[in-house]
Parts: sequence; C-alpha cells; structure tokens
Amino acid sequence: MLTTKQKADLGILFKIPNSIRLAYLRHKFAGDKVLCPCCKSTFREFAPFSIWKKPNSWCVRCESLERHRALWMYLEDKTDIYRKPVKLLHVAPEDMLFKRFAQEANIDYYPADILPYLYQKGTKYLDLLDPDIPDNTFDVILCNHVFAYIHDDKKAIRNVYKMLKPGGWGILQVALDPTKAETHEDLTITDPKERERVFGLNDHVRLYGLDYKDTLEAAGFEVRVDDYTAEFTDDEIFKYGFWKGDPFYVVTKKL
Ligand SMILES: [Zn+2]
Repeated sequence: MLTTKQKADLGILFKIPNSIRLAYLRHKFAGDKVLCPCCKSTFREFAPFSIWKKPNSWCVRCESLERHRALWMYLEDKTDIYRKPVKLLHVAPEDMLFKRFAQEANIDYYPADILPYLYQKGTKYLDLLDPDIPDNTFDVILCNHVFAYIHDDKKAIRNVYKMLKPGGWGILQVALDPTKAETHEDLTITDPKERERVFGLNDHVRLYGLDYKDTLEAAGFEVRVDDYTAEFTDDEIFKYGFWKGDPFYVVTKKL
C-alpha cells in the first residue's frame, strides 16, 4: 500500500496537472548528484517512476526514463546518426529524441506511429503490418517498445527489414526477460489485469525472451546485442540513471 504522501508525490491523490506535479518534484529532487544526458538537468536523484519498483528513474524536467537516457548517449557515442546525412524512421517517437532529431540539419526525419496523435505534432500515421512506404527507404530505423503490442510481430519486424536500406541499421528494443530463453506469448489473454501480471503491461501480448535475437535474424537482420551500460562504473550508472542489463539490439541489413 502506498502512503498518503507517496500517493501525493505521484499525483494519485488529487488530479494534479502534470506540469504542477513536475515543478513540485523538481523542487523536491533538487541537487547535483545525477545528470540527465537528454536535458542536462541535475538532481539529487531521479524521481521514482513507480515507487515500488524503480528508484532513480524519471527525469522530472524532460521526463526521460533509464532507457531513454542510455539510448541518447549510445546514439551520440556509438553511432554516426548525427555525423552524416540520414533518412530516419522513428516509430513511437520518444519526446526528447523527437525534439532533437527534428532540429538536426543532417537528419531527414520521419516520425511515425499507428496512433500518431499520442506523439508530438508532425508524427505521421504508420501501420507496421501494412506500411505505405517503399522498400529500402531509410538509412536508420528506431523502433523501441513497439513489437510487444502487435499480434503478428514477425510480420511487423519483416516490414521494418524491408523499409531499411541495404547497409542501414536500426535499434529495435522490446520488453525482454533476460532470465528466459523463450518468448512467452499468449494471444488468448485479453484481460488487461492478467496481461499486466503475465507480460508486464496491460496491453502487451507477449514478454520476449533471449530468442528475440533469433526472431530478428529470421527476418533477415544481422544482430548485435550491445550491453552498453556495462561500459560504465556503478557511480556513473547512478549518475546517469541507467538500468544495468538492458542491452541494445542493434540490427543491420546487409549490402
Ligand atoms: Zn532530462
């Protein structure tokens, strides 16, 4: 059970507008022990996103989570996405990355989703099961935390492969249990509470296991599982609010 104070911190007790809640949390977490790579804000720690599970998680300035901050730094450190002209498909475009990609002169940016109105203005409609986009269009595709919602995920992944240019690359993250060899999928579970219990979120239809790599390879990709946060010390992991053991699935399409 949450205490009244915890509920208040999460904005559960009253219908507090998000901007007010964030302003309150910025005051509450003021300090200089952690640094958000996305918005360069510092805090004494990141706020808990859901306080029973995830301390040091949520930037109360740009609203990044662990995975957003790691991806932000990975793109800067390990890829050429900001260094040469690229045509970029960004599915389910994360806010902080949308704002950056949209203003980078080298990026021909194509943000898209099947529910575009949930995202920043300018996001286009795209159904990964029936994309209205020619094959071999994009140099880079980012599609994170999308496939677990889609019944025929293998078809969606094949379409991502088709839309990528030969020689192109992508990052395709999913909710994955690294202790499980096999993906657990059950399309007959439709009750939101049961889905949350079994798959982690109330509208997911599967929880991926380590065989996710095989699924990507079956679609044609070459896959590199890059445990980026393993390159950081524990102090740095805390400072940037990363999650250990959430490697990037970096895919390429052979020339
Ligand atoms: Zn931030």
